[in-house]
Amino acid sequence: MRAVYEKLIKNITENGAYKASIINVSDIPFEPDLRKACESNQCGNYGKSWTCPPDVGDIYELIERAKKYKYALVYQTVSLLEDSYDFEGMQAGLKHHDVITDQIAKSANQEIKTPILQLSAGGCRICDICAKKNDKPCRYPDKALASLEAYGIFVAKMAEKAGMKYINGVGTVTYFGALLFN
Ligand code: SF4
Repeated sequence: MRAVYEKLIKNITENGAYKASIINVSDIPFEPDLRKACESNQCGNYGKSWTCPPDVGDIYELIERAKKYKYALVYQTVSLLEDSYDFEGMQAGLKHHDVITDQIAKSANQEIKTPILQLSAGGCRICDICAKKNDKPCRYPDKALASLEAYGIFVAKMAEKAGMKYINGVGTVTYFGALLFN
């Protein structure tokens, strides 16, 4: 099974991920207090997405769910910015990250028959407007993506464990994702 993931790493790094590697989930630092950052609602998504708090679920239950997996394929994308206020560049970087995340999801669906948990950066962006905003059920519950932070993952420390830099220099933006598997 590990060979499938090694192949996946090769595919995604050849197709635009900056780095990818496999670590043990037991090495991932989980921090329930990260939920407080979501509650401060700086991104404006709190209570506005099925995969963001509070609707994504209880932080302790999510951490337990994540810890049921043995390995994590951690990946990062790095995109260029004109300057640190380049909001459009950050959005373009997120789109690039979503393309890589989608590639991983498709490969995982084709090649992996055991349960997996895929987490990405920020709230779910599968629909232009999350159904939660209109109090409707999630349109694609099988595809909806929660963030690493929603599951209490301390991304900067996870990056270190994966041998990656959390920030990749002035004029860049870095996003992370992870596919958890057994
Ligand atoms: S799939 Fe659509 S409705 Fe479901 S969480 Fe994602 S954005 Fe919201």
